[in-house]
Amino acid sequence: MKVEHIGIAIKNLENSNQLFAKLFGHEHYKVEEVLSEGVATSFFKCGATKIELLEATSPDSPIAKFIAKKGEGIHHIAFEVEDIYAEMKRLAAEGFQLLNETPKKGADNKLVCFIHPKTANGVLVELCQEIKA
Ligand code: ZN
Repeated sequence: MKVEHIGIAIKNLENSNQLFAKLFGHEHYKVEEVLSEGVATSFFKCGATKIELLEATSPDSPIAKFIAKKGEGIHHIAFEVEDIYAEMKRLAAEGFQLLNETPKKGADNKLVCFIHPKTANGVLVELCQEIKA
């Protein structure tokens, strides 16, 4: 439906919160730790979309591995979908490799699924669907 957010891998959340606050002229609006992924995140509003900063909280976190390999920078692009199960099925049938077979609980009250960058021109794609209460 739209680019829900762009995820950026960074080394130090506090430093980057200050940097991005300068860039945008406003502060982040929330901080959240996702234990299952080994990340601490913060979110900035940026018009209709958001920027998610991701800091590794453990050495075996995917973010720690990403930074060791590529350094800081854009990590993933997240697209909002209406029905994540239907989209996962459709994309798997189209030949995309899904990194998880069932949606996982992500940051910011979302169900998420990642698509392997090797099947998406080097881009780590996140599908996300808001969890409705
Ligand atoms: Zn994300």
